[in-house]
Amino acid sequence: MADDSEAGTGRVMLAFGDHAVDLGAAKQSGALDVDVDAGLFRAGSLNPLLAEGRPTWQAVRQAARAMLEGPAAVPAGVLVPRSGLPMRLPVEIGDYVDGYGGIHHAVNMARLLRPGTEPLAPNWRRMPVAYHGRAGTVAVSGQPVVRPAGQVLVDGHPRLAPTTRLDFELEVGFVVGSGNASGQPVAADDAAGHIFGLVLLNDWSARDVQAFESQPLGPFLGKSFATSISAWVVTLDALALYMVPGLPARQDPAPARYLRARGPWIPALHLEVLVSTSAMRGAGRAPAVVSRVAFAEAMYWSMAQQLAHATVNGASTRPGDLFGSGTASGPDPKSQGGSLAELTRGGTEPIELPGGERRWFLEDGDTVVLRGWCGEDGDRSTVALGEVVGTVAPATTAPHPDPRP
Ligand code: CA
Repeated sequence: MADDSEAGTGRVMLAFGDHAVDLGAAKQSGALDVDVDAGLFRAGSLNPLLAEGRPTWQAVRQAARAMLEGPAAVPAGVLVPRSGLPMRLPVEIGDYVDGYGGIHHAVNMARLLRPGTEPLAPNWRRMPVAYHGRAGTVAVSGQPVVRPAGQVLVDGHPRLAPTTRLDFELEVGFVVGSGNASGQPVAADDAAGHIFGLVLLNDWSARDVQAFESQPLGPFLGKSFATSISAWVVTLDALALYMVPGLPARQDPAPARYLRARGPWIPALHLEVLVSTSAMRGAGRAPAVVSRVAFAEAMYWSMAQQLAHATVNGASTRPGDLFGSGTASGPDPKSQGGSLAELTRGGTEPIELPGGERRWFLEDGDTVVLRGWCGEDGDRSTVALGEVVGTVAPATTAPHPDPRP
């Protein structure tokens, strides 16, 4: 979704290599042969297009392909370079749910927070647990993230202060295209008719705020200040070749009937986390890869199961609703952790960055980049989820002079 501030709306774009098709311009020129209202491509978000349903999404994609591969020249102004294109939040998000479906992340965090106890609660293998996040603070890639404040424990006493344990979480989100009506749950096998596509998602987390507040409820302020997503939504159709059964095919115990989905539902994504600091950028250093994760080896629960579970009680969903996968981590927390909490063993063993800097948690000026793609390097059919980027801006709340919050 490109921004069109002149018109006060957005322009729906279809990525094609390092160019993008301006679908509104293509429709207006007559080159895009598809029977849909051109207003869908000049809206403030993808939501009106999402509400049309899967047959329309597929028809648009096929018409764009026919236009690009056909004999006629693509009209001027239809194909535009992606670099420098001003992007806006692609969807208007009514509801945002974040899951906890990564098995290594769940085990790693339990070992850090509750050492010596059984890492997975009895419900964890029975249902894809999740919490409702704050839809209004989901931001598009590139927006800065202001260091949040909250009640944290300082020498055992609660104090309102900027977080000193700011973290990222490497996640993949899915966007609901067609919602479901109240009282009509989505069957796991019908999820493809409801899910439009995927984004990369960074669930920024203030670990000190989260640790003190989440007893017994939460997460709340430790998470609600910001969530970043990539600007492009990659459709399920574009990912079809790369879906694998993954861990959901080997779930033990077998999940409840409503959570059983036929077919492969895990995208075989390669994920990376990169960090660059102000000093690194000043010295001309490239961002450093701090973690590499195979999504298919990280996720115990699939998005089809997440959607089936979220609606089994009859709850409705709407076009543009966003669901996060939960943090994706591999088995080795030191090199495959999807968060700094894992990479630094709870902030006790820093990561080393090029130039000699060390990080336990994020400092002001640090930039976090999440990247994801399917297919091997050099594979011409590679499908990229692009990246989601965010830089930490200094806190706007000073530590309160009174130690009592
Ligand atoms: Ca999360």
